[in-house]
Amino acid sequence: MGEKNLPFIKGKDLMERNICPVCGKMDCIFLTKDKHCKEMMDLYHSGDIAKANKIFMQRYAQFLGMQRLALKKTIDTFDSITHFTQGNFINKPLPSDLNSAITSA
Ligand SMILES: [Zn+2]
Repeated sequence: MGEKNLPFIKGKDLMERNICPVCGKMDCIFLTKDKHCKEMMDLYHSGDIAKANKIFMQRYAQFLGMQRLALKKTIDTFDSITHFTQGNFINKPLPSDLNSAITSA
């Protein structure tokens, strides 16, 4: 499989699981209390992933380097609890670009 030592984590990986980009906790109060973080999550949930990602890269990408392994663990835990990867978790409207990707497939 050729696994790298450090997993590559994208903003989307955290946003779609509601994981705080600063401390790495799920459903962290920072996600709704911090003005920029809330804006980012709102954009993500409204389907504007490009803009959400821009905020993520400008403000939070710097935090990832320090705790990539911990974040990966949180992501894996989340996925094993929710079966996220099997698609059972999703009860929100799909982001628009995902929707069009599915309908055009
Ligand atoms: Zn946090």
